[in-house]
Amino acid sequence: MLFLSVIVVILLLTLQIVRSATYTHSTEQFWRHTQTSASVVEDKIQNRANLLLRAAENLAKNFSIKQLIVDAKADPESLLVAMENQQQRLKADIFFVLDGQQKLLSSSTGQPLARAAGEFSLRGATWLSHGNKVYLLKGAPVKFVERSRSVDAWVLFGYDIAQLINEELMQLTGMQVSLFQPSMQNQILGSSLASARQHQLQQSDIILGNELQYVQLGGQRFIYVTKAYGSMNAMPVYILLATNKDKAYLSYNSLLVQLVGLLVAAALLALLAAWLLSRGVTKPLSRLVTATNKIRQGEYATTLPETSTVEVNALSHAIRDMQHGIQQREKQINHLAYFDELTGLPNRNQFSDHLQQTIDKASDKVMVLMLDIDRFKEINDTLGHDMGDHLLKLIAKRLTSFNERPAFFARLGGDEFAVVVEQCAMQTPDCIAECIARMFEQPFSIDGLILDVDSSIGVSVFPEHASTTQGLLQCADIALYSCKGKHYDFAVYRDELNKHSLQRLNLMSELKEALNDGQLQLYYQPKLSISENRIASVECLIRWIHPTHGFIPPDEFIPLAEQTGAIRDVTKWALRTAMAQQHSWLQQGLDMTVAVNISAIDLIDMELPTLVSDLLSEFACEPGMLTLEVTESAIMSDPQSAIRALNTLKRMGIQLSIDDFGTGYSSMAQLKTMPVHELKIDKAFVLELAANQDDQTMVKSMVTLAANLNLNTVAEGVEDEPSLAFLRQIGCTKAQGFYLSKALPIAQFNQWLQVYRQKSEEEASA
Ligand code: C2E
Ligand code: CA
Ligand code: CA
Repeated sequence: MLFLSVIVVILLLTLQIVRSATYTHSTEQFWRHTQTSASVVEDKIQNRANLLLRAAENLAKNFSIKQLIVDAKADPESLLVAMENQQQRLKADIFFVLDGQQKLLSSSTGQPLARAAGEFSLRGATWLSHGNKVYLLKGAPVKFVERSRSVDAWVLFGYDIAQLINEELMQLTGMQVSLFQPSMQNQILGSSLASARQHQLQQSDIILGNELQYVQLGGQRFIYVTKAYGSMNAMPVYILLATNKDKAYLSYNSLLVQLVGLLVAAALLALLAAWLLSRGVTKPLSRLVTATNKIRQGEYATTLPETSTVEVNALSHAIRDMQHGIQQREKQINHLAYFDELTGLPNRNQFSDHLQQTIDKASDKVMVLMLDIDRFKEINDTLGHDMGDHLLKLIAKRLTSFNERPAFFARLGGDEFAVVVEQCAMQTPDCIAECIARMFEQPFSIDGLILDVDSSIGVSVFPEHASTTQGLLQCADIALYSCKGKHYDFAVYRDELNKHSLQRLNLMSELKEALNDGQLQLYYQPKLSISENRIASVECLIRWIHPTHGFIPPDEFIPLAEQTGAIRDVTKWALRTAMAQQHSWLQQGLDMTVAVNISAIDLIDMELPTLVSDLLSEFACEPGMLTLEVTESAIMSDPQSAIRALNTLKRMGIQLSIDDFGTGYSSMAQLKTMPVHELKIDKAFVLELAANQDDQTMVKSMVTLAANLNLNTVAEGVEDEPSLAFLRQIGCTKAQGFYLSKALPIAQFNQWLQVYRQKSEEEASA
């Protein structure tokens, strides 16, 4: 449209300029034409006037005519015949012969000349109105004596004006010629115009002059110029050259028609060009814009326009290539976003999506199984990450070969896998879980290495346990967690598990903070050296005084911390606090051995020995003043590594004690190889020692056994004096229990110790 309007404006301007230039040119041209025409008319009249004048002058010198004039009174007939001869030769329309007194001697009409003859002997065009006609009249004086001053007669010839303004003149000039006298109310002397127009012309207000003027004649516009030429009755006569305006501008008009035609053709061509441009560029471009908008919205199937325009085609191809590139990359991104790179299994994202879709359209129960590899971290640590990765790939491969039911497998991360199975009435969750657990019965072989891998599986069921993907995953996770460290391969979710786990999860998230905030404290419980009757050691027991939950017993959060790995921080903190306290006692002159509890996880932590030795040097503490208590079950869960770690610690000079002894089924043979200094008899055997015969037997044999192995014994859970007496009697090294004191915060412990010492000193002196 813009293109077209620009073209139209240019064309209209061109038209206007050309039109006005051509008009001016045409007008000028026409004006020149009128001037030439006027000259032609003037020439023609002048020629005729000269012809008449010369004829009259010649005749006036003719003797025979002179004779005939002299004899005119007597013989008018001869003069008339002679004059008529002359007239015929001259083709004149009228003649007069007058005597010296202007009296008529002879004339073609028989009528006298109403004007003085002298008027007509002068140069120029002189006109005579005679009868009802107008004549160009010229005459010459006749002198009988050549040199005489007086005129003896006049001969005059005239042409009818109608003979002058004839068809030939009109053809020659191409104009209408009129002679008129402005001073006589525009009286028309002669004209080529039709009589009606002549009449109108006479009525019109004719403007004299050389300029082009317009007049309306008979419903048509005429253009004219006037020019003074000759006279009649001593009044000037004007020539008026007129022509129909349309005729005058005929060439201009046809030029204009051609021009308009040309411009229309140009406009049509422009329109065609605009159309081609629009078809070849504009429209494909706008289709490209639509296509790119679609691509932006992720619609890729769009066909891109092909045109004849090279540039647009190039752009179109570039966009198509770009679209292809985007598509490819999107695929890649999609793959990265939805698949696990290592195993090629769907990842957590896709798993969530799939689970969501499955439960959205589920008509039956849907099972979610979460699976992780027991001791995978150990495999990774000991065999290297490449082996670990290889194992994960093999596991993924084996899992996908599961064909009991259509199942969707995914790797959620680390050694965690998940499965969605739509349950049917025939198969219970236990059934499916068992099937999957059985897949781990065969060992895996990596580079000739045979690996026996166990898995733990947690199962949750939609809609029984949860109705959202998140909920189902959480339940499965809780169930999985519940079978960790137990003897079964899988567990199906139960509500009891959740309550526990929620609290648990919360607690664990707060533990780190608690360590830094001083919510944790060490309490000290004295150990009595029975033979010396002296307090020379304490056990450090941790307490968590939570700002909202209040007192949380260590039995509740220590196992959790062991499972999450947070125990390392707890141990580190307990060791540091205990040693700092030991150092402070030392400065007060108190030699007090501190016993700190460490767990199984700490035992396999390679950093523990370094940590301990760092702390020992930091607090300038004798290694022999630190006892580490490790439960018998912690040692028995992985005796080899435990013994390795204990050996390292023993070499450093640290005292080691087997806690809760008697509950962990250690054999005599194992006990012999254990690098420890002390057995700590579990309180289960001690609490009712005074009354229970069986306990007495047990404790006595344990003390004997320890003595044989050169180990000290500590009885914990001593609640009364008879128990202590029994222990003293059988030779137990130390006693610990409520009978002496429960574990106390440091200030109270110090107080208690002071009181206890005073009392025992008094007893000793007594
Ligand atoms: P444990 O090492 O066997 O500690 C002895 C537990 O028996 C303590 O309970 C103590 O208060 C209690 N006890 C002492 N004498 C008597 C008594 O005469 N009668 C009765 N009924 N109980 C007595 P507590 O402090 O609740 O500690 C429970 C367990 O928490 C500890 O058992 C230990 O395994 C663990 N624990 C405590 N502090 C730490 C720590 O710092 N690190 C680690 N890893 N474990 C800790
Ligand atoms: Ca202990
Ligand atoms: Ca114990």
